[in-house]
Amino acid sequence: MYPERIQKLIDMLIRLPGIGPRQAARLIYRLLDERDDFRESISSGILGLKELKKCVRCYKTHEDKNTMCKICRSETRNSKVYMIVEKDMDLDTIEKTGVHEGFYFVLGGALSPLMPESYKHIRLKNFSDFLEKDNNVEEVILATSATTEGDHTAQFIEKILSPIINKKTSLGKPFNITRLGRGLSTGLELEYSDRETFKSAYLNRR
Ligand SMILES: [Zn+2]
Repeated sequence: MYPERIQKLIDMLIRLPGIGPRQAARLIYRLLDERDDFRESISSGILGLKELKKCVRCYKTHEDKNTMCKICRSETRNSKVYMIVEKDMDLDTIEKTGVHEGFYFVLGGALSPLMPESYKHIRLKNFSDFLEKDNNVEEVILATSATTEGDHTAQFIEKILSPIINKKTSLGKPFNITRLGRGLSTGLELEYSDRETFKSAYLNRR
Protein backbone atom coordinates (compact mmCIF):
# COMPACT_ATOMS: atom_id res chain seq x y z
CA MET A 1 0.00 0.00 0.00
CA TYR A 2 1.48 3.31 -1.08
CA PRO A 3 0.96 6.61 0.77
CA GLU A 4 -2.13 8.29 -0.67
CA ARG A 5 -0.24 11.11 -2.45
CA ILE A 6 1.92 8.56 -4.22
CA GLN A 7 -1.03 6.38 -5.13
CA LYS A 8 -2.81 9.39 -6.65
CA LEU A 9 0.22 10.19 -8.81
CA ILE A 10 0.53 6.55 -9.86
CA ASP A 11 -3.12 6.55 -10.95
CA MET A 12 -2.40 9.55 -13.18
CA LEU A 13 0.92 8.36 -14.60
CA ILE A 14 -0.40 4.97 -15.69
CA ARG A 15 -2.67 6.76 -18.15
CA LEU A 16 0.47 7.55 -20.16
CA PRO A 17 1.61 5.11 -22.86
CA GLY A 18 4.10 2.49 -21.74
CA ILE A 19 3.84 3.27 -18.02
CA GLY A 20 2.63 0.56 -15.66
CA PRO A 21 1.99 0.88 -11.90
CA ARG A 22 5.45 -0.41 -10.90
CA GLN A 23 7.21 1.89 -13.31
CA ALA A 24 5.11 4.83 -12.13
CA ALA A 25 6.02 4.09 -8.51
CA ARG A 26 9.70 3.86 -9.45
CA LEU A 27 9.55 7.28 -11.15
CA ILE A 28 7.85 8.85 -8.15
CA TYR A 29 10.34 7.44 -5.62
CA ARG A 30 13.11 8.71 -7.87
CA LEU A 31 11.50 12.16 -7.86
CA LEU A 32 11.36 12.01 -4.06
CA ASP A 33 15.15 11.68 -4.02
CA GLU A 34 15.51 14.76 -6.23
CA ARG A 35 15.82 18.35 -5.05
CA ASP A 36 12.78 20.62 -4.70
CA ASP A 37 13.82 22.83 -7.61
CA PHE A 38 13.99 19.85 -9.97
CA ARG A 39 10.47 18.79 -9.01
CA GLU A 40 9.29 22.38 -9.45
CA SER A 41 10.87 22.57 -12.92
CA ILE A 42 9.07 19.40 -13.93
CA SER A 43 5.76 20.71 -12.60
CA SER A 44 6.08 24.04 -14.39
CA GLY A 45 7.19 22.27 -17.58
CA ILE A 46 4.00 20.22 -17.49
CA LEU A 47 1.89 23.29 -16.74
CA GLY A 48 3.54 25.08 -19.68
CA LEU A 49 2.22 22.44 -22.08
CA LYS A 50 -1.08 24.30 -22.15
CA GLU A 51 0.63 27.07 -24.14
CA LEU A 52 1.10 24.68 -27.06
CA LYS A 53 -1.56 24.67 -29.75
CA LYS A 54 -2.68 22.69 -32.76
CA CYS A 55 -2.06 23.96 -36.28
CA VAL A 56 -5.38 25.05 -37.79
CA ARG A 57 -4.61 23.19 -40.99
CA CYS A 58 -2.74 19.98 -40.16
CA TYR A 59 -3.30 19.71 -36.38
CA LYS A 60 0.42 19.41 -35.67
CA THR A 61 1.29 20.60 -32.16
CA HIS A 62 3.34 23.81 -32.30
CA GLU A 63 4.17 26.96 -30.37
CA ASP A 64 4.48 29.59 -33.11
CA LYS A 65 2.55 32.85 -32.86
CA ASN A 66 0.98 31.99 -36.19
CA THR A 67 -2.17 29.86 -36.29
CA MET A 68 -0.47 27.56 -38.82
CA CYS A 69 2.64 25.50 -38.12
CA LYS A 70 5.95 26.08 -39.94
CA ILE A 71 5.40 23.14 -42.28
CA CYS A 72 1.99 24.39 -43.43
CA ARG A 73 3.40 27.89 -43.94
CA SER A 74 6.25 26.62 -46.11
CA GLU A 75 6.19 27.80 -49.71
CA THR A 76 8.71 25.27 -50.94
CA ARG A 77 6.90 22.07 -50.01
CA ASN A 78 5.03 19.98 -52.55
CA SER A 79 1.36 20.92 -52.28
CA LYS A 80 0.33 18.00 -54.51
CA VAL A 81 1.09 15.40 -51.83
CA TYR A 82 -0.46 15.06 -48.39
CA MET A 83 0.43 12.44 -45.85
CA ILE A 84 -2.03 11.37 -43.18
CA VAL A 85 -0.39 10.24 -39.94
CA GLU A 86 -1.93 9.02 -36.70
CA LYS A 87 -0.09 11.28 -34.28
CA ASP A 88 2.47 14.03 -33.72
CA MET A 89 5.21 11.53 -32.92
CA ASP A 90 4.79 9.90 -36.34
CA LEU A 91 5.02 13.27 -38.07
CA ASP A 92 8.21 14.08 -36.14
CA THR A 93 9.74 10.70 -37.04
CA ILE A 94 8.93 11.13 -40.74
CA GLU A 95 10.02 14.76 -40.83
CA LYS A 96 13.42 13.78 -39.42
CA THR A 97 13.96 11.36 -42.31
CA GLY A 98 13.62 14.27 -44.76
CA VAL A 99 11.99 11.90 -47.26
CA HIS A 100 8.55 13.49 -47.49
CA GLU A 101 8.39 16.89 -49.17
CA GLY A 102 4.65 17.33 -49.12
CA PHE A 103 2.31 18.36 -46.34
CA TYR A 104 0.78 16.42 -43.46
CA PHE A 105 -2.45 15.84 -41.66
CA VAL A 106 -2.44 14.55 -38.07
CA LEU A 107 -5.49 12.41 -37.33
CA GLY A 108 -5.12 12.46 -33.57
CA GLY A 109 -5.03 8.70 -33.07
CA ALA A 110 -5.80 5.43 -34.77
CA LEU A 111 -9.28 4.03 -34.93
CA SER A 112 -10.12 1.00 -32.91
CA PRO A 113 -13.08 -1.25 -33.68
CA LEU A 114 -13.10 -2.03 -29.96
CA MET A 115 -13.58 1.63 -29.11
CA PRO A 116 -16.43 3.01 -31.24
CA GLU A 117 -15.95 6.44 -29.66
CA SER A 118 -12.56 6.67 -31.41
CA TYR A 119 -14.44 7.37 -34.65
CA LYS A 120 -15.82 10.60 -33.23
CA HIS A 121 -12.44 11.96 -32.17
CA ILE A 122 -11.00 11.72 -35.61
CA ARG A 123 -10.44 14.91 -37.59
CA LEU A 124 -11.00 13.22 -40.88
CA LYS A 125 -14.11 15.25 -41.65
CA ASN A 126 -11.99 18.43 -41.72
CA PHE A 127 -9.55 16.80 -44.09
CA SER A 128 -12.22 15.52 -46.45
CA ASP A 129 -13.81 19.00 -46.48
CA PHE A 130 -10.44 20.47 -47.37
CA LEU A 131 -9.85 17.88 -50.08
CA GLU A 132 -13.24 18.49 -51.61
CA LYS A 133 -12.52 22.20 -52.12
CA ASP A 134 -8.88 21.80 -53.06
CA ASN A 135 -7.74 21.58 -56.67
CA ASN A 136 -4.08 20.96 -56.09
CA VAL A 137 -3.68 17.66 -54.25
CA GLU A 138 -2.93 14.64 -56.42
CA GLU A 139 -1.89 12.10 -53.85
CA VAL A 140 -2.85 11.26 -50.29
CA ILE A 141 -0.45 8.91 -48.56
CA LEU A 142 -1.93 6.91 -45.69
CA ALA A 143 0.98 6.53 -43.29
CA THR A 144 -0.74 4.64 -40.52
CA SER A 145 1.17 2.11 -38.43
CA ALA A 146 1.63 -1.49 -39.58
CA THR A 147 -0.64 -2.64 -36.75
CA THR A 148 -4.21 -3.97 -36.82
CA GLU A 149 -5.49 -0.58 -35.72
CA GLY A 150 -3.34 1.18 -38.31
CA ASP A 151 -4.69 -1.06 -41.10
CA HIS A 152 -8.21 -0.57 -39.91
CA THR A 153 -7.72 3.20 -39.81
CA ALA A 154 -6.32 3.26 -43.35
CA GLN A 155 -9.29 1.27 -44.66
CA PHE A 156 -11.70 3.60 -42.93
CA ILE A 157 -10.00 6.69 -44.40
CA GLU A 158 -10.12 5.17 -47.89
CA LYS A 159 -13.83 4.55 -47.49
CA ILE A 160 -14.49 8.11 -46.31
CA LEU A 161 -12.40 9.72 -49.04
CA SER A 162 -13.47 7.51 -51.93
CA PRO A 163 -16.55 9.57 -53.04
CA ILE A 164 -14.38 12.70 -53.27
CA ILE A 165 -11.70 10.85 -55.16
CA ASN A 166 -14.20 9.29 -57.56
CA LYS A 167 -15.56 12.75 -58.23
CA LYS A 168 -12.10 14.15 -58.93
CA THR A 169 -11.04 11.30 -61.20
CA SER A 170 -14.35 11.44 -63.10
CA LEU A 171 -13.48 15.07 -63.87
CA GLY A 172 -10.20 13.85 -65.30
CA LYS A 173 -8.02 15.00 -62.40
CA PRO A 174 -5.17 12.72 -61.46
CA PHE A 175 -5.66 11.42 -57.94
CA ASN A 176 -4.24 8.55 -55.93
CA ILE A 177 -4.53 7.22 -52.44
CA THR A 178 -1.40 5.29 -51.56
CA ARG A 179 -0.18 3.38 -48.54
CA LEU A 180 3.35 2.89 -47.32
CA GLY A 181 4.92 -0.21 -48.87
CA ARG A 182 6.10 -3.29 -47.08
CA GLY A 183 9.36 -2.85 -45.29
CA LEU A 184 7.73 -1.59 -42.16
CA SER A 185 7.53 -4.83 -40.23
CA THR A 186 4.10 -6.00 -39.21
CA GLY A 187 3.03 -4.77 -35.81
CA LEU A 188 5.46 -1.87 -35.89
CA GLU A 189 4.33 1.54 -34.76
CA LEU A 190 5.54 4.14 -37.22
CA GLU A 191 7.26 6.21 -34.53
CA TYR A 192 9.71 3.35 -33.89
CA SER A 193 10.82 2.90 -37.50
CA ASP A 194 14.30 4.01 -38.52
CA ARG A 195 15.17 6.25 -41.45
CA GLU A 196 16.15 3.54 -43.96
CA THR A 197 13.10 1.39 -43.18
CA PHE A 198 10.81 4.35 -43.53
CA LYS A 199 12.48 5.55 -46.70
CA SER A 200 12.04 2.19 -48.42
CA ALA A 201 8.40 1.97 -47.25
CA TYR A 202 7.86 5.50 -48.58
CA LEU A 203 9.47 4.88 -51.97
CA ASN A 204 7.55 1.60 -52.34
CA ARG A 205 4.18 3.11 -51.55
CA ARG A 206 1.31 2.17 -53.80
ZN1 LIG B 1 0.32 22.58 -39.96
